[in-house]
Amino acid sequence: ENDYMTPAERDIDKALRPLSFHDFTGQAKVVENLKIFVQAAKRRGEALDHVLLHGPPGLGKTTLSHIIASELDAGIKMTSGPVLDKPSDLAGLLTNLEANDVLFIDEIHRLNPIVEEYLYSAMEDYKIDIMLDSGPNARSVQISLNPFTLIGATTRSGLLTAPLRARFSINSRLEYYDAELLTTIVKRSSALLGAPIHEDAAFEIARRSRGTPRIANNLLRRTRDFAQVKGNGSIDVEIAKFALHALDVDHNGLDDMDKRILSCIIDKYKGGPVGISTIATACGEEAETIEEVYEPFLIQEGYIKRTARGREATEAAYRHLGKIPPQQEVS
Ligand code: ATP
Repeated sequence: ENDYMTPAERDIDKALRPLSFHDFTGQAKVVENLKIFVQAAKRRGEALDHVLLHGPPGLGKTTLSHIIASELDAGIKMTSGPVLDKPSDLAGLLTNLEANDVLFIDEIHRLNPIVEEYLYSAMEDYKIDIMLDSGPNARSVQISLNPFTLIGATTRSGLLTAPLRARFSINSRLEYYDAELLTTIVKRSSALLGAPIHEDAAFEIARRSRGTPRIANNLLRRTRDFAQVKGNGSIDVEIAKFALHALDVDHNGLDDMDKRILSCIIDKYKGGPVGISTIATACGEEAETIEEVYEPFLIQEGYIKRTARGREATEAAYRHLGKIPPQQEVS
């Protein structure tokens, strides 16, 4: 989603980003641990051990990485798995790091396998072998790197290779935020945007944001538009409900695609089980996106069950769509 932001939106996104552990709401356990590891590394004057952050999109992996670097008083370089095409791209980044800097690799499960090989020795020994020339003159030279911290972010930790996973000694999983935490985030963001908001309006936006700060911030910004055009600029619960309805966010926070997925399983496949690629084709969405973005939330909220034979709609899914669940087998 980050890729499609206009410059103005990117500025707002930046302005809303918490800059220190202190400003960061939620993920209490992850943050408590990271604070300790960061402090200890800093005291020893060493690079922090490599960190793997995983969890659904928009929960704060990028934000936390910036915070870690800033709390370490270190620099940070950002890149992403698919962008690192050749080993030389990686070598270029690594050789430019200063001692104890952070290298952030987003979507690390999508690294080119050859680039990944190079990463192993860089992570383990702060060394990288580079090939000079080719053919009969080919030889490799070893380059020593400054100690650094790799922070890898992924929505699909299951797709990481075992050798890569083993090289991260800090492994943190981010969870969906509950409505109370998101209410705090929405109130903080509206204060930063200079948009007055009522407590119950903040809660209404929060509880319909699929447990995700990025979505909460987006819904807040759109709601602020409605408040400015249809109201007096202040966001109350009526305006919030009006805006959420206009944005096709239903009373439990499911969006259009969530509902499409559920009705597809129920109407076309009798509630399942049905395979993810079949669902994807029927909904006109990529299987990968469904697995990364939609399904984890639908599972966590109890609308979908994952079984060995595919995905099944639960009773809650039927009820949510106003349909009658099939009779349970009585034996
Ligand atoms: P992706 O991997 O899809 O980029 P992400 O997990 O890295 O997602 P971020 O880009 O860090 O997510 O966060 C998305 C937005 O949500 C940011 O604009 C950030 O301001 C906000 N945000 C994330 N976590 C928090 C938090 N704990 N408190 C306040 N705002 C947050």
